[in-house]
Order: sequence, then C-alpha cells, then structure tokens
Amino acid sequence: MISRILGFINAADRSSVLSIAAGLLIVIALLDYLSGDGLASSIFYLIPVALVGWRFDIRVSGPFALVATLAWVFVTLLLGVQPENLLFATWDGFSRFIVYLIFALLLGHVRRSLDQAREMALTDHLTGLANSRYFQELAERELEHCRRHGRPFTLAYIDIDDFKDVNDKIGHSGGDRVIQSIATALSGSIRRVDHVARQGGDEFMLFLHEVDGEQAEQVLQLIHSRVSQALENQGLDVSLSIGGVTWATAPRSLDAAIHTADRVMYQVKRMEKGAVLHRTIGDPNLALRSDAPPPDGDTLSPAPESSR
Ligand code: GH3
Ligand code: MG
Repeated sequence: MISRILGFINAADRSSVLSIAAGLLIVIALLDYLSGDGLASSIFYLIPVALVGWRFDIRVSGPFALVATLAWVFVTLLLGVQPENLLFATWDGFSRFIVYLIFALLLGHVRRSLDQAREMALTDHLTGLANSRYFQELAERELEHCRRHGRPFTLAYIDIDDFKDVNDKIGHSGGDRVIQSIATALSGSIRRVDHVARQGGDEFMLFLHEVDGEQAEQVLQLIHSRVSQALENQGLDVSLSIGGVTWATAPRSLDAAIHTADRVMYQVKRMEKGAVLHRTIGDPNLALRSDAPPPDGDTLSPAPESSR
C-alpha cells in the first residue's frame, strides 16, 4: 500500500504534487475548524508537509512548512482559543514550524538517498551508462512493447578488439579511459529512444527501437564509424567488433535474443575483427534455438576507413 502511494507520488509531476498538498492542507484546516478545539490536530498537518518534503527541497518545503504552521495558528485563533501568554504562544507556533520543517527535510533526504542508491544499483560506475541489470530491465520493457505492436527491434553486442593488449600497452587506467571514450561516443550516436549499456569488461550492448534490418545495418555501420573516429581523434589505436541482430517480430525470450547477438559478435571476431556483422531474423523461433546456425547471406561489413 505504502509503496503504491510512493509510486504514485514519484510518478506525478511536481506541480501536481504541490497542488494536491495545498488541497490537502485546506481540507485538513477545514476539518480542524469543524471539529472544534478538543482534538489535538496539528499532527494531521504533517501529511501535506510530508508530501511536499518528499518531492521538493528546502526552497519549497521550507515555505510550505511555514504555511502549514500559519494555517494551524489561523484555525486555532478562529476557534477562539485565547493564548494565556503571547511569548509561550509564539514559541508554540515556532516549535511546530521547526517540527514540520525537520520532518520535510528528513523525508527529502530519505528520497534523495533512495534515488542515489537506485542509480548506483543501475548504472556502471566507470562510464555512467546503464549496467547489464538495468539494460535487461529496459530491454524487457521494450521487447514487450515490440511484441504488443508487432514492431521490429535490434540488439547489438559491441566488444573492444584485443583489449588485453591495449591494457598492456597503455596501462589499466589508460584502458579505463578507452572504455569511457567509447561509452561517450556510443551515447552520442544513438537516438533518445534507443538504449546503450556497458555489459561488463570491454563489452557494450545496444537496443535499437523499431528499425528494420536494412536500417539497423546502416545505423550499426554509422555507430561503428563514429566511435572509431572518436577514438582516432583521441590518438587511440583501438578497434571494435559489432554483432547485431534484428528481429522482424519480437522473440519470446530476451535471454535467447541476447545470446544470439553475442554469437553474431563472436562470428565477427572469428572472421575479421574491427567489423560489423548484422543479420535479420524473420522467424522468431530461430532466436530461441541457441544451436541454430547463422542464416545464409550474412555479410561481414568491412571496417570503415577510420577504424584501425
Ligand atoms: P578479443 O578481441 O577477442 O575481444 O580480445 P580481448 O583481449 O579484448 O579479450 P576479452 O574481450 O576477453 O578481454 C577483455 C579484457 O578487458 C580483459 C580485462 O583485462 C579487460 N577489462 C575488463 N574490465 C576492465 C576495466 O574495467 N578496465 C580495464 N582497463 N580493463 C578491463
Ligand atoms: Mg575484447
């Protein structure tokens, strides 16, 4: 129940959250007034304050905590509760404001910590790209979409060639910079609807949304030449192999699809490193057979001039 409420609050846009909190505050103040002065009501004002604290920082939650305090003071005065001592009454109001404020700030802190923990769990620390777990989550979602709408999609495996030698030549931290450069070039080469992830080590994955086989082949060639060019511009003597598969209709299993793309990438490695190999699968069942041979007519695209 709580996670569903939090899911709703997290998904709603910030202005809606602020409007809901303001509406709640008015309703609570009204009920407070109607219930008279017998009920210790100030705790209820924490609900809209919590809502705002969860989604906003102190610049909004601070003033909102103050408004909530003033609403409570206003209702108390309307009910004719006469303060015996003005100083004590002021202190009473002020201490309520401090409690609301601390409550809002704590909730904001909890939310930001949860966001950070989620981000750390889903991103690769070296490149900032999605990690394999997050990629799996995104790809499952996209696959479901393609399945429902009968749309094609493409998965591609990208592996750095002879990366062990690269590490030996320029050191592990030099190798890390190569991985980072490739990650940046890859993210800059895909559309917003596509996904790129670091699968681990020197491997990356791409999910291309709704492109047919012919387009996918062109896109992979373009990505290959852009990344190769970016590496060349930085004086890095590194090449990549890309194996991509386009499914005309979505296969039933993402794992099998990933496995198929992986096999195509290893075919490139065997045939000619530094190249792009792409194939299209029209029969979704083919993707499920991990022992299925590659279809006839595979073409090994030559490495673009910029790659080494
Ligand atoms: P191939 O062309 O067949 O892919 O040869 P390769 O040398 O690239 O072999 P492979 O892909 O199996 O090796 C990956 C290497 O990447 C092994 C490991 O030393 C290195 N590596 C893995 N993760 C990191 C990393 O985070 N930073 C650096 N610098 N190197 C890494
Ligand atoms: Mg490699």
